[in-house]
Amino acid sequence: AGTGAPVLEVEELSKHFGGLKAVDAVSFAVARGGIHALIGPNGSGKTTTLNVLSGLYTPTGGRVRLEGRDITHRSPHARAAAGIGRTFQNIRLFRSMSALENVVIGAERPDNALVARDRAALEARAREALAFVGLEGRADEPVASFSYGHQRLIEIARALAGNPVLLLLDEPAAGLNSSEKNALTVLLRRMAAKGLTILIIDHDMTLVSDVANHITVLNFGRRIADGLTAGVLREPAVIEAYLGE
Ligand code: ADP
Repeated sequence: AGTGAPVLEVEELSKHFGGLKAVDAVSFAVARGGIHALIGPNGSGKTTTLNVLSGLYTPTGGRVRLEGRDITHRSPHARAAAGIGRTFQNIRLFRSMSALENVVIGAERPDNALVARDRAALEARAREALAFVGLEGRADEPVASFSYGHQRLIEIARALAGNPVLLLLDEPAAGLNSSEKNALTVLLRRMAAKGLTILIIDHDMTLVSDVANHITVLNFGRRIADGLTAGVLREPAVIEAYLGE
């Protein structure tokens, strides 16, 4: 678990779609270093929360702070520049471009030390990120030639290459087989060991309980539990929410 001020503070965050309160006055804080999971049954508001955090949706109410700065009304681009990296539930890579070219795009975070014309440095950073996920040997192959599980790893490498302050992972285990899930678990633990701060949204309780040190649980848009992993997973309200699935 991290120490000091939280990296991310979410205060009374709401997102309504007409009369539907998809996210309803949710608060939580992500400490620096380690893996914080946002979980809940289908339709509980996880993806909506992530989309508000990454700036795709304007919140109906509430506030979001990154390293103490209010980013509630910043654009997705400005958030990326401020250090929020993310992966998507549906993989978003340029399929005809190589793995390396895709990851170089992630290395070009506007405010990082590397400028776009410093191609060699960007490529070095991208290769390092691909090595971290175990795909350096295939850096020059087109994305389309990789398995689905490996494409997920390329997405993670692309986000890592931007050296994010906070990494948002949207259901990284979706569509993976069990050996790919095991590999992802190992990778997530290595990312945490490196000191990265990760907010992960996932439906897979096994993965979440294996990697997360802190969990926030949503149900019908409301926060129903928040705390250290082992304690949260034993709370009756959490067990009940998942049994109702
Ligand atoms: P989860 O990710 O936990 O499965 P979501 O955040 O996707 O939940 O959805 C929460 C609720 O908000 C659901 O009832 C869903 O149907 C609704 N919802 C999500 N996105 C929209 C949207 N763009 N317009 C209207 N309703 C939406």
